[in-house]
Amino acid sequence: MMNDFMENGIFKISECRKIAVMGGTFNPIHYGHLVAAEAVRAEFGIERVLFIPTGRPPHKALSVVAPDEQRYLMTVLATAANPYFDVSRMEIDRKGTTYTIDTLRELKKICRPDAQIYFITGADAVNEIFTWREADKLLDMANFVAVTRPGYDKKRLEKNNSMYYLEIPALAISSTDIRDRVKAGKTIKYLLPESVEEYIIKFGLYKNDVAGELVRKIKERLSSVLTNKRYIHTLSTAREAAKLANIFGEDTSKAYIAGLLHDCAKDFSHKLRIEKCKEYNIYLDEVLKKQPDLIHSFLGGAVAEFEYGINDREILDAVKYHTTGRSNMTKLEKIIYLADLIEPERREFDGMKEIKNAAYSDLDYAMLLSLEGTIRVNRERGRLIHPLSIEAYNYYKSK
Ligand code: NAP
Repeated sequence: MMNDFMENGIFKISECRKIAVMGGTFNPIHYGHLVAAEAVRAEFGIERVLFIPTGRPPHKALSVVAPDEQRYLMTVLATAANPYFDVSRMEIDRKGTTYTIDTLRELKKICRPDAQIYFITGADAVNEIFTWREADKLLDMANFVAVTRPGYDKKRLEKNNSMYYLEIPALAISSTDIRDRVKAGKTIKYLLPESVEEYIIKFGLYKNDVAGELVRKIKERLSSVLTNKRYIHTLSTAREAAKLANIFGEDTSKAYIAGLLHDCAKDFSHKLRIEKCKEYNIYLDEVLKKQPDLIHSFLGGAVAEFEYGINDREILDAVKYHTTGRSNMTKLEKIIYLADLIEPERREFDGMKEIKNAAYSDLDYAMLLSLEGTIRVNRERGRLIHPLSIEAYNYYKSK
């Protein structure tokens, strides 16, 4: 690992008083990243900027993520000409999920005890820092610099004194756009260093995106069958589900897809719901007959299977049980149930904060809190409680 920090210049990482870590997936690295790193270096008087490409990030499984080695090599190519820039293999060589806390600890071992570390990354990523592992310690270990794109919604920036924000116009360039352009056969010239462009062409990166294609098709269909409000909620639930999946080591692609599909039958008319229940042999018990709104999740499971072509049982069950819950739910079922409740677009309800806090650390406890609240509110409104929810409540209460 020491090779990471050896260079011919005057400043060795181990001797620097001020170093910056530029953390990102770099899929691929582009001029926006380079300009951002250089701007932060100049702004804070940083002696070295260490680019650290993430290990294969689980929450990125949906889009094409170039293999670790290729992202690393593209980062080396892109940074080679700047004497202040280095690249580290630290995260891609680390086994398992890579957490920033581990990276900072590893770095602290190498740096002078009085060295100040700046951690630079995209504002969207850094604003979720409270969901990162050992979030409370992170802010003590480094100064976080969130770099934003022009037009970035400033309201989304957390008011955090230990965080710096810097708008970087060049970040109008995005890795997603570059990947989309490659896929569509469009030019990517002048968006990223020529050497990186040549590398992408040579190795044919970003041409195929099977999971991304499925997501695109699902989104296209949902956007035409759901109301605008529901569609926004759907996208937010999918993102929240992927976030929870990332925290709890669940498959983020599956969580994202299940999140997208959870309300796929919600905006069907009552007539259509009944027709489709007949078509897909969905038994309407007494509670479903009296509270037809509950039908959408059971029907959603079948619609996801027969109309969206999903054949993964776990995804289908997560859609099916996202409203009632049931006892002994799979991790994915709990994630979808909770993501639906706590996604940031949902209007705040009594107890939401507690459920949200619990969801990031203990899914079973978050389930208990949610079921408790749902049962209480529905009773107050004179609604019937589905037996599956009672069963689920008793199950999580006894855990
Ligand atoms: P991301 O979700 O891919 O990126 C979110 C946004 O930030 C994207 O618009 C992205 O644009 C931009 N971005 C990412 N890195 C950037 C950078 N260095 N400079 C400027 N813009 C950047 O984020 P990510 O790449 O996975 O993660 C960013 C960093 O946060 C990584 O170092 C990662 O390890 C760390 N992280 C840690 C934890 C944890 O410890 N639990 C969790 C999440 C993230 P582009 O697509 O154009 O790059």
